[in-house]
Amino acid sequence: MLKPRAAIVALDAYQSPIADRADLNENTAGCSDRVLARLRALNKSDVAMYPDRTAGERAVADYLGVPHDSVLLTNGIDDGLLLLSAAYLGEGDEMLLADPTFVMYPIYGRATGAQVVRITPAEDLAFPVGEVLARIAPRTRLITIANPNNPTGTVVPQEALLHVVKAAPDAAVLVDEAYFEFGGETLLPQLPSHPNLFVARTFSKAYGLAGLRLGVLAGAPEQIECLRRFCSPFNVNAVALACLKDALADQEFVRDCVAQIKQGRARLIAMCEELGLRVWPSYANFVLVRVGQRHREFVDVMARRGFAIRDVSANPGCAGCVRITVGTRSQVDNLLLAMRAAVEQIRS
Ligand code: PMP
Repeated sequence: MLKPRAAIVALDAYQSPIADRADLNENTAGCSDRVLARLRALNKSDVAMYPDRTAGERAVADYLGVPHDSVLLTNGIDDGLLLLSAAYLGEGDEMLLADPTFVMYPIYGRATGAQVVRITPAEDLAFPVGEVLARIAPRTRLITIANPNNPTGTVVPQEALLHVVKAAPDAAVLVDEAYFEFGGETLLPQLPSHPNLFVARTFSKAYGLAGLRLGVLAGAPEQIECLRRFCSPFNVNAVALACLKDALADQEFVRDCVAQIKQGRARLIAMCEELGLRVWPSYANFVLVRVGQRHREFVDVMARRGFAIRDVSANPGCAGCVRITVGTRSQVDNLLLAMRAAVEQIRS
C-alpha cells in the first residue's frame, strides 16, 4: 500500500481558516484599479501560454534596488518557504524559530524530516535574540524570522537580526518581510554583505493581491541560482505576472491603503488600551490583543456582529489572545463598536 513519508503522515491536517471565517490579514480595500483594468484586458493567449517569470523578476529587482539575479518570484511567500525548506533541510538537520510566529514555518520544516527547534516566548513576546543565538548549532540549517512578526505585529531590531545572520553562516536565515509596507524596516540593503541571508516580500498584503499568489525571494545570486534548479519554471501564473508591473506602478494605491490602515491601527490600539486590554505595538496590518479566558466567546460575538477575527490562543505565549486585521476607515468604525460590545459581554 502506498504510504507517504513518515514526516508527512505526522503532520496535522490544515484547517482552512476561511471555513471559520477567521481573518487572514488581507487588504480589505481590495486591489489597485490599475491591476483590475489589466485583468479585464487579458486576452485568450495571455492565459493559454505557459508563464515566463523573467520580465517580472527584472521589474521587481529594479523596484527593490537589487541585482536581477538575486530575485526569484514565487507563488506567494509560502512557495518560497517550501523551496528554502527543501533546499536546506533534511533528516538530521534543524530548523530554528522563535515562537510565536507564522504557523506555516514549522509545517514546512517538519515535512522535510528535519527537527524544528522552537524557542518558548517570554511574557512580552519579544524576539529572544540571546536564546536564538545560544541555540544555533552545527545542525542548524534554516532560521525563519517574520519581521514584522505574525501574530504579534512587533519588529525585531536590525542589529539583532544581523547578529543572527552573522552567527549562523552555515544556515539560511530568512527574514520574512510580508508586512514590510506597514511600517517595518528592511534588511534588503544587507543582502550583498551576507551570503546566507534571504529576504521575502509579498503582494498579498499591502498590494491586495493575495488571490493572485505573488511572492518574492531575494538572496545571494549563487543561492537563488540553486533554488531555480528545482523550482517549477511555471510556479507563478500568467495572470499574476501580467498584473505585476501595474501593481508596482500604482504606488499611490499602496500608500493610501497603508496610511488608512496605520490610522485604523492606532485607533484600534487606543481603544484596546482604553478598555484595559493588553495589546502589542503593531507594525503590520493587524493587532494582537489579549481578551482573556473568554476568548472563544469574544470571537463568537464578533462573528455574530459580522467580524471574523482570528483566535490565536493556541499559539505559544498567546493564551487568551485574538488577532484582528485592520481594514478600511469605515470597517474600523464598525469594528470598534462591535469590539466595545463584545468586551462588555465577556466581562458581564
Ligand atoms: N509570511 C507571513 C509572516 C505571513 O503572515 C503570511 C501570510 N499570512 C505569509 C508569509 C504568506 O504570504 P503569501 O500570501 O505571500 O504566501
